[in-house]
Amino acid sequence: MSNKLQGKVALITGASAGIGQACARALAGEGAHLVLTARREERLQSLKEELEPLGGKVVFVTGDAREESTAVNTVKAATDAFGRIDFLINNAGAGNYKNLVDTSAEEYDELMDTNVRSTFLFTRQTVPVMLEQKAGTILMLSSMAGVYGFGGEAVYCMTKFAQVAFAQALDRELRESGIKVGAICPGGVKTEFALGRGRNEEGVAQSEMLDPEDVAGVVLMACTQSPRSRIIEVQMRTMAESLA
Ligand code: NAP
Repeated sequence: MSNKLQGKVALITGASAGIGQACARALAGEGAHLVLTARREERLQSLKEELEPLGGKVVFVTGDAREESTAVNTVKAATDAFGRIDFLINNAGAGNYKNLVDTSAEEYDELMDTNVRSTFLFTRQTVPVMLEQKAGTILMLSSMAGVYGFGGEAVYCMTKFAQVAFAQALDRELRESGIKVGAICPGGVKTEFALGRGRNEEGVAQSEMLDPEDVAGVVLMACTQSPRSRIIEVQMRTMAESLA
């Protein structure tokens, strides 16, 4: 641990599992204070107990990321506890791999709201704080499904392309105010993601997908750039996959 992020504050959505949890560990390992949110309270509580001994303070807010009140309450918890937000990691997300003709309007709404509406809500609440600071970094946990359209994942791809578009547009809107905005686009990652909804535990365990720590390493890199430098987009793939 080198305490590169001592005194800095990171707000991470979807921190109760997978990539969000790995990001929490990576940033806490560098001394950051954390503001965590997800729906599963017991997981956030145990992550707080695990990470506070590393030196940073950890606060969490339990809630559904699709609801505006969760974003409002989480940003308020961050400013009440720390008075600032240096990093927003828009990570909460869901998958449901289905062909279009098997996808209902309710399933479409669930993916759009979990992946896109939540990204809008948390960013909308955080940017005023960062404008006041004239500094901050916002990262969208998009996907290679936000760069290429994959068959059988049309709606999921829509949501992930939307996050990349949002990041590109906000980079142009916010750079002159000192705010960095980027998209991290991993290929498959070994987590609970989409289990029973296009993936199963055995298939994930036997796959050669990335580990969540691989992605967290890139998030940490983006959060430790010099003030001169910003990461706009990172595409990541396991060594086992070709680019085709
Ligand atoms: P995961 O293990 O399933 O974790 C998803 C996280 O999002 C959990 O903490 C979950 O918390 C939270 N979440 C989901 N729906 C939520 C809601 N309605 N309200 C609040 N929190 C919610 O998935 P992951 O693999 O870490 O994925 C994280 C992000 O990476 C997603 O945006 C995903 O699209 C992206 N990604 C994943 C992969 C992959 O192959 N795994 C690849 C590329 C990109 P609760 O259930 O406790 O609320």
